[in-house]
Amino acid sequence: HPLFAQRMDRLTVPATIAMAQRARNLRAKGEKVLSLALGEPDFATPAAVIEAAHRAALDGQTKYPPVDGTPALKAAIARKFARENGLEYAPAEIMVSNGGKQVIFNAFMATVQPGDEVVIPRPYWVSYPLIVQMFGGTPVYADCHEADGFRLTAQALEAAVTPRTKWLVLNFPNNPTGGTMGQADLEAVAEVLRRHPHVHILSDEIYEHLLYDGLRHHSLAAVAPDLKGRILTLNGVSKAYAMTGWRVGYVGGPTPLIRAMTAIQGSATSGICSISQAAAAAALDGPADIIAQMCAVYARRREMVVSTLRAIPGLTCAMPHGAFYAYPGIAGCMGRVSAGGHRLETDQDFAIALLAEQHVAVVHGSAFGQGPYLRLSYATSDDILKESCARIARFVDGLN
Ligand code: PLP
Repeated sequence: HPLFAQRMDRLTVPATIAMAQRARNLRAKGEKVLSLALGEPDFATPAAVIEAAHRAALDGQTKYPPVDGTPALKAAIARKFARENGLEYAPAEIMVSNGGKQVIFNAFMATVQPGDEVVIPRPYWVSYPLIVQMFGGTPVYADCHEADGFRLTAQALEAAVTPRTKWLVLNFPNNPTGGTMGQADLEAVAEVLRRHPHVHILSDEIYEHLLYDGLRHHSLAAVAPDLKGRILTLNGVSKAYAMTGWRVGYVGGPTPLIRAMTAIQGSATSGICSISQAAAAAALDGPADIIAQMCAVYARRREMVVSTLRAIPGLTCAMPHGAFYAYPGIAGCMGRVSAGGHRLETDQDFAIALLAEQHVAVVHGSAFGQGPYLRLSYATSDDILKESCARIARFVDGLN
């Protein structure tokens, strides 16, 4: 009679967390490790947001909040969806969770069971398949290619849908590739979804504000209003407002789903930290130029990182149009041997050798389902980025 439930066999540590841990171990030994492994803004949370949290705490907003979110935050979210996405969601169609991650967990726990398939564009953020598998569902991957700017094509989606498909996950701007979907791309996807009315869609738009080259974000539910009753529009304050530690994510969607997800959350965590909710409301209602300022910094770093990587023989790098990741291809380095004697058969070999020899932490692309690539987060300081790129160049230069 084993202690651990069978679902634990399907729960592996995400490579992003594993790589950050390796970097920490090296650091504990006194090494100076540069980490581009985690997708976390290096900016401070805006001061006005912190002040709103302080005021909320002094005002006595320190009691159990409603499970689905405070009325004040839900109202701010409704305003945000209307203002920024052209989406009307009533309070009963909105809920607040411990980060976007708990939204995904709630949604799949409420709906996914053995026999169900979830279509996930590949490369993917690792949590999607992990959560699907935890509930006994089967991830089915729809491949996105560098030549298409890592967009999801109608053909790749059509090929992945079966009568057992319960969900499609869309995540654009994308982690890990930085790929984006324009209005026409989303319309093509919507056309496929109209032919498959049994498929629901989780549209993870958490990177919506991190867009470059003058691109504008489009929400699937706004591009295809006829599908809105099948769509969960997921967002959060972590990436846009540098608020990863406050743990506030939210979702808009059809009332029956929101109600089921709220029931689950009520048993799991109850409502989200009341003080964080006050902070999130201040962020959403606050001046938008805070995001634009951070975005301008990311845009500059992106140029710097991509142009440096492209100049390294053996590396290729598509220009990412969103999020804060570069996704260089390292096919030209495979089969070679590093200066420290590591044979590089896979992108994971590359990432491990790079950390061991040059003390730069990145995550291998095959951890996100497509190699040989590396994922570098440029949500870190210019100095760290410059030094990291120089070390990567040195590492590749030393390959035999
Ligand atoms: N979705 C994507 C694609 C992410 O990369 C992340 C964080 O890394 C999240 C959702 C969840 O973020 P949070 O739980 O902090 O809202």
